[in-house]
Amino acid sequence: MKNSNILKDGNSIEFKTGAWRARTPSHSKEKCKNCMMCVPFCPEACIKQEDNILVGIDLDYCKGCGVCSKVCPFGAIEMKDNND
Ligand code: SF4
Ligand code: SF4
Repeated sequence: MKNSNILKDGNSIEFKTGAWRARTPSHSKEKCKNCMMCVPFCPEACIKQEDNILVGIDLDYCKGCGVCSKVCPFGAIEMKDNND
């Protein structure tokens, strides 16, 4: 197992927190209004946008906390159990 101690700064990219995930966000392009409310709330900064369009979630780093789903005012992100 990889040593998880943080021994130097600027190394968060090395720690793929997606391995922690028990639930996975499912983003609906149809419901999404691209308000970008979810982007600053994500503790892993893994919600990706280009030209003010939400284009996806980087599951290598998404730890499944569900904050994005809670803050989305349009119900565009649904959390699903990994076993579903
Ligand atoms: S569940 Fe949402 S807020 Fe949490 S890490 Fe994943 S994308 Fe970010
Ligand atoms: S908060 Fe919801 S509507 Fe706004 S960009 Fe995120 S998923 Fe889309």
